[in-house]
Amino acid sequence: MADVIIIGAGPAGLSAAIYVQRAGKTALVLEAFTYGGQIVNTPEVENYPGIAKISGFDFATALYEQATALGAEIVFDRAETLETDGEMKKVTTTGGVEYKARAVILATGAKNRHLGIGREEELTGRGVSYCATCDGAFFKGKPVAVNGGGNTALEDALFLSNYCSKVTIIHRREGFRGEPAILETLRNKENVEFVLNATVTALIGEPKLSAVEVTDKLSGEKKEIPVDGLFIAIGQEPDNRAFADLVELDGAGYIAAGEDCRTKTPGIFTAGDCRTKTVRQLTTAASDGAVAALAACQYLG
Ligand code: NAP
Repeated sequence: MADVIIIGAGPAGLSAAIYVQRAGKTALVLEAFTYGGQIVNTPEVENYPGIAKISGFDFATALYEQATALGAEIVFDRAETLETDGEMKKVTTTGGVEYKARAVILATGAKNRHLGIGREEELTGRGVSYCATCDGAFFKGKPVAVNGGGNTALEDALFLSNYCSKVTIIHRREGFRGEPAILETLRNKENVEFVLNATVTALIGEPKLSAVEVTDKLSGEKKEIPVDGLFIAIGQEPDNRAFADLVELDGAGYIAAGEDCRTKTPGIFTAGDCRTKTVRQLTTAASDGAVAALAACQYLG
């Protein structure tokens, strides 16, 4: 039995584990997939204070090694349910194992949003991808499209433009959420094209993707863009339904908690992208991890 169970081994969860261990308590981290969360998909992190440039994977690995060196235990099993009898919290995993602790930190992050159009699941891994760093190399010298207008889409497009023959950025409006500096770089690249005010409405190709159909939002006109790959980067969605009895969820499914990272249930805290907040960055995830961990240690007394 650990002092604190942390659900999620992304930057928020691993930062929390570091702070729990350094506070003289023990942390057990449950992770459904692999450590690092979304940051492992980021080619270059250039906005973490004190580190000028590092790959997302190297950053995640350094966090993981720091947490485990301090004694945090990391178990790769998905937390399915969370219950409490008031004092003790019980987490049951997909593997059927029950873990108990007096304090729990929910650091479940968020998952890639899907377009929700026909054949999206069928063609995932056959041209459709949600991770340019993971799959970009398969499309060397080939035309690809990136859908989205946030930082992920722009960074993915920049990364892909370095070795794909052509990158078409498809975005549903004129304005971009992503950083103007990256947008400017993309606008100056010869192999990058923009298709704006447009949505991807069909995925074409058998057995692999060979084109996307886009529909102009203003004119309703449809056209096909020949591509070997489509990188979908239209944001993230949380998945906190399993905890809805013990924490309040906001309208979008994020855990309602303020900057103190406390939920409505004493002893249950939350950190990182899964929490209601306006800025979701590596720095804010790491700082949430510290705040939630120290609040949990204070709760334990
Ligand atoms: P995001 O900022 O939420 O952007 C999502 C984009 O997808 C928006 O342009 C949105 O369009 C579009 N979109 C949403 N739903 C759509 C749909 N159903 N169909 C078509 N388009 C849709 O997501 P993100 O780019 O993944 O970034 C998430 C957070 O991580 C942001 O805070 C971002 O700044 C941060 N981030 C930081 C870094 C970094 O610091 N290096 C790197 C990557 C991401 P609208 O604009 O019209 O809503």
